[in-house]
Amino acid sequence: MAIATNLGFPRIGAKRELKWLLEKYWKGTIGAEDLLTGAHEIRRSNWNSQVEAGIEQLPVGDFSLYDHVLDWALRVGAVPAAYQTPQLVSELDRYFAMARGTQKGADLPALEMTKWFNTNYHYIVPEWSTDQAFQLNANALLAEITAAQAVAGNVRPVVLGPVSLLLLGKLKGSEASPLVLLDKLLPVYEELLAKLNEAGVTWVQWDEPILALDLNDQAQAALKHSLEALAPARGSLKLVLTSYFESLRENLPLAFSLPVDAVHLDLVYGPEQLTAALQHIRPEQYLSLGLVDGRNVWKTDLARALETAQLAANAIGKDRLLIAGSCSLLHSPVDLTHETEIDEEVKSWLAFARQKLDEISILTRAINEGPESVAKQLQENAAAIETRRTSHRTHNPEVRSRHQAISSESFRRQADYQARKTQQQERLNLPLLPTTTIGSFPQTSEVRQARAAFRKGDLAAGDYDTFLKTETQKCIARQESLGIDVLVHGEFERNDMVEYFGEQLEGFVVSANGWVQSYGSRCVKPPIIFGDVQRAGAMTVEMTRYAQSLTSRPVKGMLTGPVTILFWSFIRDDQPRRDTCEQIALAIRDEAADLEAAGIGVIQIDEPALREGLPLRKTDQEGYLRWAVDAFRLASSGVANQTQIHTHMCYCEFNEILPSIAELDADVISIETSRSKMELLDGFGSFQYPNEIGPGVYDIHSPRVPATSEMVGLLKKAVDVIPPQRLWVNPDCGLKTRGWVEVEAALESMVAAAREVRSLL
Ligand code: GLN
Ligand code: ZN
Repeated sequence: MAIATNLGFPRIGAKRELKWLLEKYWKGTIGAEDLLTGAHEIRRSNWNSQVEAGIEQLPVGDFSLYDHVLDWALRVGAVPAAYQTPQLVSELDRYFAMARGTQKGADLPALEMTKWFNTNYHYIVPEWSTDQAFQLNANALLAEITAAQAVAGNVRPVVLGPVSLLLLGKLKGSEASPLVLLDKLLPVYEELLAKLNEAGVTWVQWDEPILALDLNDQAQAALKHSLEALAPARGSLKLVLTSYFESLRENLPLAFSLPVDAVHLDLVYGPEQLTAALQHIRPEQYLSLGLVDGRNVWKTDLARALETAQLAANAIGKDRLLIAGSCSLLHSPVDLTHETEIDEEVKSWLAFARQKLDEISILTRAINEGPESVAKQLQENAAAIETRRTSHRTHNPEVRSRHQAISSESFRRQADYQARKTQQQERLNLPLLPTTTIGSFPQTSEVRQARAAFRKGDLAAGDYDTFLKTETQKCIARQESLGIDVLVHGEFERNDMVEYFGEQLEGFVVSANGWVQSYGSRCVKPPIIFGDVQRAGAMTVEMTRYAQSLTSRPVKGMLTGPVTILFWSFIRDDQPRRDTCEQIALAIRDEAADLEAAGIGVIQIDEPALREGLPLRKTDQEGYLRWAVDAFRLASSGVANQTQIHTHMCYCEFNEILPSIAELDADVISIETSRSKMELLDGFGSFQYPNEIGPGVYDIHSPRVPATSEMVGLLKKAVDVIPPQRLWVNPDCGLKTRGWVEVEAALESMVAAAREVRSLL
């Protein structure tokens, strides 16, 4: 019989219970015991949902108070020296000090955090030392296993494998690969396997997600070595080797050659690998079929998934199949039944984590007992898939014919940068080293309260509008008196730079509860792109025009770029991303045209997520960059030469994609650089980046107010790399998370620094 399985469940709880618990604990309003009891409640409720849905191997150890990679670093006893201080009294203090830094007793920064493969989840990067010692620390995990065994007979511990664990971390003070530590680490895993055996476990989920990446010989050898070395310790344990987000490609033969009892395939993001898998699977191995998309919100086309499963069953027999989600459901929202905002038609196309479990279980029954046994469920599913496929809202002929008709001129500005620069300067008349900001100004509690009141209906639309205009007016006046050259309206009307546009564009819905963990207690609620995208009307013109009416200085219009809107949303899976992105680009292009017609001379189109969409495999990257750059150009090229286009990027290593950044052909780009002390700019210098750049001169992530001299120092460094005619002065990113006091002080220093360096030129 095929077995219904699941790689992991969201940890945050259906109503973000974990977030509230953590925040209370950090504030000191609840103690450790309440936190741990609360966390156990969430776990228990997750287990119950899964058992209820018919999951036959219950994942355990997928839960985490903050991050599972940090959990595994601690389970193998890897605490960097600084965090071993006795000033951190409890293990929980140590854990959160590593996760988010502390200033209580010990003064320690957080460990580095980075993106989990190509998702929007962020993990804590383990720090290894060259003399790293390891020690098993799995009592809590074992206790969880015992507790889960009381709920479900068959539990499947989720173990982050040693090779991925090492490679996800950084070996400090050495150029060598962290894999040099593998032989020291393996005894810990050996001990763990022995304990799992004692605990009466049958299957273990052996996560080696690096299998989705380009692997060098050393990493491939390490996978082989680790599993061979651990084989004797396993006893009767069965291992299912899991990776996700991509096809295994050339790593596929390696995966099946390893001493594992099953291999998991992500058949949503790599459907083509099934054929090769059926050739490489060994006679005693099981195959885990990842058929249900673990990181998106769409109902699975069960008929199609069943065909795939049937094909595998015909080839190797249903007794050797595990049916699963493509990856852990960590990346999908928890439960659609809590959704109140989405209209019924679109809702009928969706499945969140809880509903995905049902799909796994329906597919398993269909394979085991025949499709007749779940005829009703299959029929309902087919009907939903059909209405989605044929709905006018997903296939809007107007949008489609416009998209088809895009000409190659639409991707190019009328003149080249040099010619544009002259015309823009005539219009804007800016000094050398012009000063500006990235867009948002402090979202004070007043601003947030007014928005909440408006949403609840406690504040009338007219009053809310008056409130926003007053805030904007104060913001313009403050920027004028600070002496900033290019002003912004402040973004007070926006809760989030993507949701704001998602709420206004056709083809999007915004959920009420579709939260997904981003890191720790932080969750995001991506809008859902379900259909063809177009503007219902102008989105930003009124507020920008109003702001411009208050000042004689140029006000910069503020738009989010098509690539960022795409990647910070749930993406439709029924057409190539590129097509969706181009539809969004056309909507943004229209908005830019309306801003221009309203007399706005500077327009910023933010693309902080450009780097984020980069595919995991090198061979796919060029193709992606081509269409991503084109989408930006489509959005930004409809304006006249005199209109200055800015873009902004942050949170990333830009150097590897510099040629693509240059191809965006924005007149000005502002980038985050201050934390790297302008080192990032060296890349732009040696690459001879052709247009204008505003390297961030101060870190907006901290309330600290930098001294003028500090920013003068950074600007002098910048002038060495970039000719002053092409240099702008701005902070690293938007100021929405800061308070007004520090913002005004910091911007005053920034303007003074710009003036000082100008006078030296
Ligand atoms: N314009 C946005 C802001 O200032 C940009 C935010 C971002 O880059 N993440 O808030
Ligand atoms: Zn930014």
